[in-house]
Amino acid sequence: MQEMPAVVIKDKIFLEHDPGFGHPESPQRLQAIYKRIEEEDVNQIYRVARPRPATKQELCWNHSRTYVERIARTAGLLHYQLDPDTATSEKSWEAARFAVGGVFEALDSIFSGKSSGGFALIRPPGHHAEIDHAMGFCLFNNVALGAHYCLRRLGCKRVMIVDWDLHHGNGTQHSFYEEDSVLYFSTHQYPYYPGTGAADECGEGRGEGFTVNCPMSIGAGDREFAAVYNRLLAPVAEEYRPEAILCSAGFDIYWHDPLGGMQVTINGFSFLSSKLLGLARKLCGGRLLFCLEGGYDLAGLGEGVAAVLRVMGRKEQKKEKSVIGELEKSDVSTKGLDSALSIQKRYWRSLV
Ligand SMILES: [Zn+2]
Repeated sequence: MQEMPAVVIKDKIFLEHDPGFGHPESPQRLQAIYKRIEEEDVNQIYRVARPRPATKQELCWNHSRTYVERIARTAGLLHYQLDPDTATSEKSWEAARFAVGGVFEALDSIFSGKSSGGFALIRPPGHHAEIDHAMGFCLFNNVALGAHYCLRRLGCKRVMIVDWDLHHGNGTQHSFYEEDSVLYFSTHQYPYYPGTGAADECGEGRGEGFTVNCPMSIGAGDREFAAVYNRLLAPVAEEYRPEAILCSAGFDIYWHDPLGGMQVTINGFSFLSSKLLGLARKLCGGRLLFCLEGGYDLAGLGEGVAAVLRVMGRKEQKKEKSVIGELEKSDVSTKGLDSALSIQKRYWRSLV
C-alpha cells in the first residue's frame, strides 16, 4: 500500500505577525524553515495544506471570552504590548487564529487517513499562553486547542501532549492540570523561564498523575534527553495508551540556540521524533502532529524541522546501527530524571 505523505501546514499569514524590531520570535524564523523544506532531501516527503481561521467559539475551548475579545481588538493596531515579551501587530489576531486553525486542519487530515502524521509550521507559538493572558511570545495555545479538538471533534478520550521546547509549557499544563483526558509531558531547562515545571507538579484531582514534568539541567544533550524518552516517556505513553500524540516542538534546545543552555544536536531531534513516531505507530495508528513552538537559531530551526520530516518520511523505523540506534540504549541518570521517576512511580506501574 502506498504510504500517505505527511501533512505540513504553511502559509504566508504566519509571516505577518510581527512582535517588533529585534524580537527573537521573528518572521525570519519561519522563512528559514519554509526555505529549508523546499530542498530535495525533504520536499517529496510532505504535502502542504492551507490553514483555516479558528472561530472565536473554538478559541474559547481553552481561553476566556474576555481574553479572546481582547486579542481580537488588537486587529489593525500597529503595535500593542500584551506583556513584557509579547506584543501584536496589525495582523497578529489573524495569524494567531490561522495558527490554531492550521492545527485543526492538520488533525483533520491525519484522522481522515489522508496523511500519516504532520507538522504545523505556524507562529505565533502557543505553549505559554494561559486561559486569560498572553505570555512568552504566545497568544493562543495552539497545542492545547489541538487537544481540545481531538476530544471534542475527533472522538478521542485520551490525548498525549509531549513538549520538548526549552521552556516549560505553563499554559498547556494549566489547561489540563485537573484533567485525565490529556496527559501533559514536558522536558525543559529548569530552573528557568517561566518558573513552572518542577518534578512534583503532577496534576490535581482527577488529573493527578497526568502531568509529567522532567526538569533538565543546563548542558543536557542528546543522551540525557534520550534517557528521559526511553525510561520515562515511553513507559508512561504505553500505559496511558493515547489516541493521538501532539508534540510542542521547540528547537530552542538546539546546542547553538541563543536563548537556551541545552546541547541537543540534529541527531537528537531525529531521535526524539523517531521515538514519538514509534510510539504513535504502536499506540494510535501513527496519529502524531508536531506543532512549532520556539527555536531562535535560524540554521538549527531549518535543520531541526528537516530532520523531523525525514523521520516521518521513512517507511519503517530502522533499527540500524546508527547514532539514533545508540541513543535508543541511552539510560543515563540525571537529577531531574531521577526525581521525576521517583514521583511518577506512584502513578505508573511500569516505571522502574
Ligand atoms: Zn521555548
